[in-house]
Amino acid sequence: MAEETQARSSAPAEGQAPSGPGGGPRGPRGAGGPGGRGKFFRRKKVCKFCTEKIDAIPYRDVRLLQQFVAERGKIVPRRLTGVCTTHQRRLTRAIKQARNIALLPFATRH
Ligand SMILES: [Zn+2]
Repeated sequence: MAEETQARSSAPAEGQAPSGPGGGPRGPRGAGGPGGRGKFFRRKKVCKFCTEKIDAIPYRDVRLLQQFVAERGKIVPRRLTGVCTTHQRRLTRAIKQARNIALLPFATRH
């Protein structure tokens, strides 16, 4: 016979807003984003020879070639240097030529 329907809903106490006084999780910053440019420019490497409009790669230019040769005399793959396919090919030839006239070392074998 108990007819007490006491809906004990957990009503929020008076005055307390559900979000609280702290504000949302988003702070005021974040407008600029994390993009700090200037240090890393990894994307969009442009072929050095294309930019400088070097058509034929001078095989005598050791300093130039050495930039594309690893320490052991290995030719650096073009995905690391950013050289385009055409110039990479010419570069390879130039390096080989330079090796033949002993301007560059051959790849040292282990
Ligand atoms: Zn190129």
